[in-house]
Amino acid sequence: MTWNERVVVIGSGLAGVRLARRLGELGTSVTLIGEERHPPYNRVLLAEVLAGRYGPEVITLPAPAELTRARVTGIDRAARTVTCADGTVLAYGRLVLATGSNPVLPPLRGLFTTGPELPRGVHAFRTLDDCLGLADAVRPGVRAVVIGGGLLGVSAARALAARGAQVVLAQQSERLMERRLDPAASVLVERYLTGLGVEVHTECRVRDVRCAGGAVRSVELADGYALGADLVVLACGVHPRVGLAQAAGLDVRKGVVVDDELRTSDPRIHAVGDCAQHAGTVYGLAAPALEQAEVLAALLAGDPTARYTGTRSLTRLTLTGPDSPFDLAAFGETEALPGDDVVQLADATRGTYRKVVVRDDRLVGGVLVGELGTVGALARAWEGAEPLPSDGGPLLHLLTHDGGS
Ligand SMILES: Cc1cc2nc3c(=O)[nH]c(=O)nc-3n(C[C@H](O)[C@H](O)[C@H](O)COP(=O)(O)OP(=O)(O)OC[C@H]3O[C@@H](n4cnc5c(N)ncnc54)[C@H](O)[C@@H]3O)c2cc1C
Repeated sequence: MTWNERVVVIGSGLAGVRLARRLGELGTSVTLIGEERHPPYNRVLLAEVLAGRYGPEVITLPAPAELTRARVTGIDRAARTVTCADGTVLAYGRLVLATGSNPVLPPLRGLFTTGPELPRGVHAFRTLDDCLGLADAVRPGVRAVVIGGGLLGVSAARALAARGAQVVLAQQSERLMERRLDPAASVLVERYLTGLGVEVHTECRVRDVRCAGGAVRSVELADGYALGADLVVLACGVHPRVGLAQAAGLDVRKGVVVDDELRTSDPRIHAVGDCAQHAGTVYGLAAPALEQAEVLAALLAGDPTARYTGTRSLTRLTLTGPDSPFDLAAFGETEALPGDDVVQLADATRGTYRKVVVRDDRLVGGVLVGELGTVGALARAWEGAEPLPSDGGPLLHLLTHDGGS
């Protein structure tokens, strides 16, 4: 393999930008292509922009100088070229897909009555444009319905409430952030949102959205109840953006399948970030995207030993309210299986909750709400996957002592 052949990266999100910057630092020439009209930015901080805490310029990423603004529409693997929507054709020696995710649009008939565009007032929450559109429409007293109670829905609801909207959050499952949190932590998140004035409905299935004159008017629930709505945020999850890879005949399952060298089924094409599936996992989180970018940069810059073996990734969320911020972190398995040991500390008055799950003397997961001083020590014990001494003392220590983190 020759190492100084041109690397073309499709997608200037977190993973693509980190990869391009590292390659630049390592002296490897790279072309970064991104379709968004804004300078590259940190998507994780969009809710802060929506809440009015940061201006869009604050979340700009330090990007490499050479950024081509274009949408790639096709890959010709035989010719080793990519084609952009404006007709430009670029040759690559190595191609990297860093195309991220698309928001999931729920199959509600009312969403598609206005053609391919969403009805006025209905927004996804994925891009800075989505966020600016929402920020433009939100006013004190506006009736907003957030559909979906995962990380995105919770962040959006909090941000809209901070702008004075009357927010209803409709969550289909029986609790908030159910994929990441245990029931006790979900209750604390719900209590926090309720305290900000958000009306949370769980086990609440949305049946349709009703529009008039091309604009949303209400959200209809499965029990027939209609919530009046001026704004609707779709926070129903994401799916990896794999269209280009699929059309090029690469192996795609949930995401673009990659090996430990982040190679797709074509050894000249790599994938990193939300669009990639490694060892069966599509992470959809920032930390794995950045770690994959670092490993691939090392490989493409000539370190043949660099390997990606997976990320034990921690979910962190800070919700900033008018009083104090509400922090939470969750990692691994937050609910115990029969035979697991659980250590749990809850302080209802302070709204804090800490729990770890131990299996066969190994920390397999945990959740911390309101009090994150110990998160560094716990994350290290979890990442290291070292056996814990069996007398239980160190566990309590991990939960109560910040371990210098
Ligand atoms: C509101 C919000 C909050 C989040 N909060 C958290 C959080 O708290 N913690 C966490 O870990 N993760 C969070 N995430 C998820 C995190 O942002 C993603 O995991 C991360 O951005 C993935 O990086 P990526 O580079 O793979 O994809 P992205 O950041 O999505 O970047 C992909 C880029 O590729 C571009 N692109 C795609 N196809 C093409 C094409 N054909 N041509 C040109 N350009 C193209 C896209 O326009 C996009 O700019 C959040 C996401 C959102 C939306």
